Amino acid sequence: MGVTYKSTRNSNETVTASQAILKGLADNGGLFVPDAIPALDVPFEKLAGMSYQEVAYEVMSRMLTDFTEEELKYCIDSAYDKKFDTPEIAPLVKKNHAYYLELFHGSTIAFKDMALSILPYLLVTSAKKNEVKNEIVILTATSGDTGKAALAGFADVPGTRIIVFYPKNGVSPIQEKQMVTQKGDNTSVIGIIGNFDDAQTGVKNMFRDPELAKQMDAKGFQFSSANSINIGRLVPQMVYYVYAYARLIANGEIKAGDVINVVVPTGNFGNILAAYYAKQMGLPIAKFICASNENKVLYDFFETGVYDRNREFILTTSPSMDILISSNLERLIYQITGEDTSKNVSLMQALNTEGRYEITEDMRKQLAEFYGNYATEAETDATIKGVYETDSYIMDTHTAVAAAVYGKYVAATKDTTPTVIASTASPYKFTRSVMEAIDSKYASQSDFELVDELAVLSGVKIPQAIEDIRSAPIRHNTVCDKSEMEQTVRAILGL
Ligand SMILES: *Cc1c(COP(=O)(O)O)cnc(C)c1O
Repeated sequence: MGVTYKSTRNSNETVTASQAILKGLADNGGLFVPDAIPALDVPFEKLAGMSYQEVAYEVMSRMLTDFTEEELKYCIDSAYDKKFDTPEIAPLVKKNHAYYLELFHGSTIAFKDMALSILPYLLVTSAKKNEVKNEIVILTATSGDTGKAALAGFADVPGTRIIVFYPKNGVSPIQEKQMVTQKGDNTSVIGIIGNFDDAQTGVKNMFRDPELAKQMDAKGFQFSSANSINIGRLVPQMVYYVYAYARLIANGEIKAGDVINVVVPTGNFGNILAAYYAKQMGLPIAKFICASNENKVLYDFFETGVYDRNREFILTTSPSMDILISSNLERLIYQITGEDTSKNVSLMQALNTEGRYEITEDMRKQLAEFYGNYATEAETDATIKGVYETDSYIMDTHTAVAAAVYGKYVAATKDTTPTVIASTASPYKFTRSVMEAIDSKYASQSDFELVDELAVLSGVKIPQAIEDIRSAPIRHNTVCDKSEMEQTVRAILGL
């Protein structure tokens, strides 16, 4: 019996894994969830002897049951290869009384690479399995990290094209340079005169336009989404939690069956949900420590049972967590309603119309494994500086939010369970914020001077992703108004 995927908003919509990957979002804005999570029936001692790719196959084959062994191994081997700067793919580093699971060794040096390097292969394989003849056009709006990781993942993948819209004046200089220098004949990058919400709205309108879909189909194209609600991103993210556990056994840090905690710097709730699913597969995780920055909507939710996005949006030094609607939380809400689609729909409607909802006492009881907290900007900076000074380890701002929250958790609970911290970006991706946290004297230096200083302080080689953008030629210089997005897409596709 294979795993099927059903919608959180309509109990009649059931699809296979490959169909869920192709579709991305279910009808009425629902998300696809597995009807059951099979047990990972491989002894931990055996997993401890496996490579990342081998663990990936064990985990993913349990979840994507309509893929053949050959298809899945092809996807895994194509994704987790020399694009990563270490054969370990996701190294586990022991520092400062915790284990940092470094998820930033892929081509764009952020954890989005863990899923977006395999999604293109899963998508193309899914298209073949379902006899989709059209070329797949990935349409994405980005505020920085997702766009670059998706571009890198889809560049030159046969049968796909990717078009990324970003707010021309709303991303960091390094993020913009990373995107506009992207190689690959199937890639297009467009800056819009407008903000991220405008980009997102423009993309959603194109997805919903039946006339555009018809014209695309006539020319042999169809849209798909690389956004973080696709189960083709969630399932690959379960892998590294199992891998981290296997490394802890292999390194003699724990015995098979011992419990661990995980700390995840959270935005859209995708990464931490993947850990939660890994537990349902059999990984002994005791606590899910959900770390937020000053946009602490999730902390308040775990404290009070009220999810309320009616608040000021704060720009922080951990921008990939600046988010007030954590889309993947819906999958957890659906589960704690007892998989009641109508209850879930009414909560999500309340979020849409009033910007808030409240869960019942019975639902709250099911969240006991979660601990939420947040770090202020000052606490984040102090953590970067403190861990650098005591352990000579330099972490990025997002990871520092997690480390700061872990400190609060330990102070409050005295819990000594071995703990894995998801380390989601290289400090080189947020060089300025990291260096200024260490010493305010760096404020006067240029971004690339700071990169060189960081190399000296950290002793970590400058990643290829950074070297590349120092000298890379600009390949994309299209800018359009937010009202011209559809015309721009038509021009690119020759419609
Ligand atoms: C996307 C991102 C996050 C948040 O991950 P979610 O799965 O959205 O919770 C955290 N850190 C970095 C660096 C990211 O790029």
